[in-house]
Amino acid sequence: MTEDSEHPDSLTPPVLEKVASLRGGTLYLVATPIGNLEDLTFRAFRLLRDADVLLCEDTRHTGQLLKAFGIRRGMLSLHKFNEKSREARVLADLGDGKVVAMVSDAGTPGISDPGARMVASAWDAGYRVESIPGACAVVVALTVSGLPADNFTFVGFLPIKSGRRTRELERLAEMTSAIVIYESPHRIAKLLEELERWLPGRELAVCRELTKRFEEVVRGDVRDVKKQLEGRKARGEYVVVVGQVRETKKRSAEL
Ligand code: SAM
Repeated sequence: MTEDSEHPDSLTPPVLEKVASLRGGTLYLVATPIGNLEDLTFRAFRLLRDADVLLCEDTRHTGQLLKAFGIRRGMLSLHKFNEKSREARVLADLGDGKVVAMVSDAGTPGISDPGARMVASAWDAGYRVESIPGACAVVVALTVSGLPADNFTFVGFLPIKSGRRTRELERLAEMTSAIVIYESPHRIAKLLEELERWLPGRELAVCRELTKRFEEVVRGDVRDVKKQLEGRKARGEYVVVVGQVRETKKRSAEL
């Protein structure tokens, strides 16, 4: 063993000595942690450090991430309000053969976050796009929920306006797959009320602060979950997983 590999802080496994170089003219979508900094992948680290252009949903937010990993570099903002106007500049950079990386504040860009428009434009203009996989709250919630995840529908945030929200809940009530919903702490109590009304009896997993210090998963049917959360102040970030309609229930409902 060399002195270096004995060092407990050595983070470079031998496989990384032979990594392929980054490709110019490629847009890389880079997933970043949703709470636990150790969830940044080696590939993501390399892109954050070495990309010619780093597009960020919020440069202050990503600045903190870079600081935690000792990376000092320039960033360019790309968020839902300037995604369209940034496009020409990003396509020109890709045309110049630059390596362009894109991150959102947390998790996987394009999943309830900006990114999709830029990706489509890059493909349409004939450039390569690659996704650097990593943390994504949908997948973390589904896998920790203990509910069957072989057939699920991801709906992101439900609409806020009441008419559209009710129509969406009506649509969800017709689904037999598992359903994954993102929700803010201000509306989680309201969402549970709505699920009790529109999807009564379904199994739920309310997942809070995933990958973070106060991670918590509350499981049970809607009524049970509401009881467990009663009187508690909602804090942090939430994903709600609604279980599939089980065959026996489906059949008895049809009879
Ligand atoms: N792109 C992100 C992803 O890959 O999951 C999602 C971004 S979306 C703007 C933010 C929402 O994702 C939060 O409001 C919450 O519903 C969910 N979320 C993100 N991080 C979370 C975490 N650590 N625990 C629970 N939910 C989380």
